[in-house]
Amino acid sequence: MTGPAPAALLAALRDDAFTARATAWERAGAVPRAAIDELAALGLLGLTVDTAHRGSGTPPAAVTDVHRLVAAASPSLHSLLVVHAMVCHAVRRWASAELRDALLPELATGRMLAAFALTEQQAGADTGALTTTIDRVGDTLRITGTKRWLSFGQIADAYLVFGSTDGRGSCALVDAGAGVRVAVEPVTAGLRAARLARVTFDGATAPASRAVGRPGIGIPFVVTSCLTLGRLYVAAGAVGVAEAALRLAADHAATRAHGGTTLGDRQLVRGLLADAALATDAAARYVRHTAQEIEDREPSAAVTAARAKLLASRAATTATATASRLLGAAGQTEDHPLARLHAAARVHEVIEGPTEVLQDIIAADLLRGRPGTTDRAPSPAAPYRKEDDHRAEH
Ligand SMILES: Cc1cc2nc3c(=O)[nH]c(=O)nc-3n(C[C@H](O)[C@H](O)[C@H](O)COP(=O)(O)OP(=O)(O)OC[C@H]3O[C@@H](n4cnc5c(N)ncnc54)[C@H](O)[C@@H]3O)c2cc1C
Repeated sequence: MTGPAPAALLAALRDDAFTARATAWERAGAVPRAAIDELAALGLLGLTVDTAHRGSGTPPAAVTDVHRLVAAASPSLHSLLVVHAMVCHAVRRWASAELRDALLPELATGRMLAAFALTEQQAGADTGALTTTIDRVGDTLRITGTKRWLSFGQIADAYLVFGSTDGRGSCALVDAGAGVRVAVEPVTAGLRAARLARVTFDGATAPASRAVGRPGIGIPFVVTSCLTLGRLYVAAGAVGVAEAALRLAADHAATRAHGGTTLGDRQLVRGLLADAALATDAAARYVRHTAQEIEDREPSAAVTAARAKLLASRAATTATATASRLLGAAGQTEDHPLARLHAAARVHEVIEGPTEVLQDIIAADLLRGRPGTTDRAPSPAAPYRKEDDHRAEH
């Protein structure tokens, strides 16, 4: 992959009008499809797709810059970018050549919006507890099960559904429509406009060619390699949130009069700002390092991405908490941009692997092979083996 993110897209995202629109989406509780289509026309959804399939083939480090910009203004829209990129990745890497060539251009241009359908009521962080079935009957797949908390599931055209086929983990891309019931999830603080859905597949069908990878690799390989990418992008979004909170904190500290001077002249306030700035900067650098590992297909990339997401979501928590303290009462109002950032930081500690699960992965990697340790943590798998690229696993 080569090339920066499209210039017109970057210009649109840096425009103050984008921040104003994002605020309006949060108030209204929905990012409208028309706004997504508009940004998709500038290349928002095709960043990770190669140019032959109508994407921009933007390298991971440059993609994370876009994620930072989007998340700082709209953590809700950012969640669409994350799940859509995960679906594009699964299709690119695990689907048959025909499916890849047919669907990637649709996904890259935003003609097809795709949701990532993994979580179930009893299976959140524990992906081993999925109950959804993807049965194969001749040339048809029959999907039965209910998925929860799907970002943009309310308006998705297709769902990448994870379940099991004959007891083996599998996944398939299923179109919205007959046999697919969509219900609205409760609005989530921080990502009020993310159009979360509970989606029931009630004997929904799809052609067998819509299987993404063969049964047996759906969980250990497709999920884990998608999550590696998802963790990088959530980490990038968390950095965007942390940077936005830090700007609010610094602007306030520099101007708020206090005892004949400003808040920013107080030693204790300077300490808070320095700690938040360091956490944010360290996370930003680690995100770039992770993006490079992913681009270089380093075997360590899965664990590095877990580390990046842990570091960055904590940086966002630190920076938003600092801003919240320094802004005093002004920062506590529901409509203040800080309220959105603060709640988004909390969400970032839960999605794409809660903090404790990431700690488990990181510690297991550290302890692996040492005498006396039990290997009970979820394996991060080997997400970026060069030989898997562009190989259909059917
Ligand atoms: C805004 C938002 C958007 C989302 N979008 C999607 C989406 O698009 N697609 C999708 O499939 N899902 C989505 N989810 C669901 C998300 O992936 C899950 O919330 C996440 O996987 C955690 O699952 P859970 O909420 O069931 O929590 P649980 O799995 O019940 O975990 C709850 C808490 O228990 C602790 N915990 C869990 N496991 C361990 C462990 N092994 N060791 C120690 N402590 C542990 C952690 O503190 C964790 O936060 C979304 C959620 C939110 C809030």
